[in-house]
Amino acid sequence: EEANIEEINLKEYDDELSIREVRSLQIEHDLLQAVENQEIYLEYQPKFNTRTGRIDAMEALLRWHHPQRGFVSPANFIPILERTGMMAKVGRWILMQACKDALCFQQQYHDNITVAVNLSISQLLQGKIVEDVANALAETALPPHLLELEITESMTMNIELMMPILKQLKALNVCIAIDDFGTGYSSLAYLSDFPADTLKIDRSFIEMIGVNMRGEKIVQSVIHLGNELGLQLVAEGIETQQQLQYVTEKGCHYIQGFYVSRPLRFEQLKEEIDRIHLEFGQIK
Ligand code: C2E
Ligand code: MG
Ligand code: MG
Ligand code: MG
Repeated sequence: EEANIEEINLKEYDDELSIREVRSLQIEHDLLQAVENQEIYLEYQPKFNTRTGRIDAMEALLRWHHPQRGFVSPANFIPILERTGMMAKVGRWILMQACKDALCFQQQYHDNITVAVNLSISQLLQGKIVEDVANALAETALPPHLLELEITESMTMNIELMMPILKQLKALNVCIAIDDFGTGYSSLAYLSDFPADTLKIDRSFIEMIGVNMRGEKIVQSVIHLGNELGLQLVAEGIETQQQLQYVTEKGCHYIQGFYVSRPLRFEQLKEEIDRIHLEFGQIK
């Protein structure tokens, strides 16, 4: 009898697997179409200056709204873009669009507002990223220091491979941020000569504020470390007043998070930023 049950489970598992495979092929197909039909788009999450209470930057986040499935997370569909070799093309489009939008932000808000673009590992390794960034800057005439490129800490794992590319990017005068800092399992030693301007403290640490004493101390120490190294610090995923207050007191320059603002479509940003400046503008 036991063997029977196992057999049935195995069969269900097989069916499940094939359904999943078909689904993922379908998703892959739909995504190709979406890219062709320009159904993917960018949202922007404001980056809030804890000292002035103003918005100094916007992070571009890729969005895909599937006609049947609804919103699909970039964490799920970006790996498909990478696997199918489409990320290079989509990545170029993101860079160009973000640089164009950055020029509008400058006109609408202030001269020094920056735009941040997340880079994927395949973009960095396929060898054309320096050219792509240079092209986007040249074509839009965006001053390079107003573009920030975010790479995750896990991409720094292969430091020998990454270093020359990052140095070439820095030579264009763009800024480089290390995203999801603290989650990449890489040795801290790489920070000693890594050409980064900004550290973004991962949300998993921010969540520990007020909950886990040692976690809180990690946040404090990373802020201290960043300041000692002359880096800008951003706390990611701030959802409460308590978290905002904690990182501000410890010397974190910027925050992003639902507490201040969710990522929004370009057209919704003006109203949102006016609201933020009104609500938080009094902060000293
Ligand atoms: P990320 O770059 O670390 O972006 C931050 C993520 O946290 C975003 O998720 C954002 O919506 C979310 N977030 C911001 N504030 C809060 C908060 O207060 N609470 C919570 N729970 N979440 C918050 P999203 O947009 O789903 O993006 C997930 C990841 O996908 C990004 O992480 C980034 O690694 C990647 N990604 C998104 N857009 C792009 C892109 O254009 N290119 C590349 N290569 N990767 C992208
Ligand atoms: Mg990011
Ligand atoms: Mg992050
Ligand atoms: Mg993240």
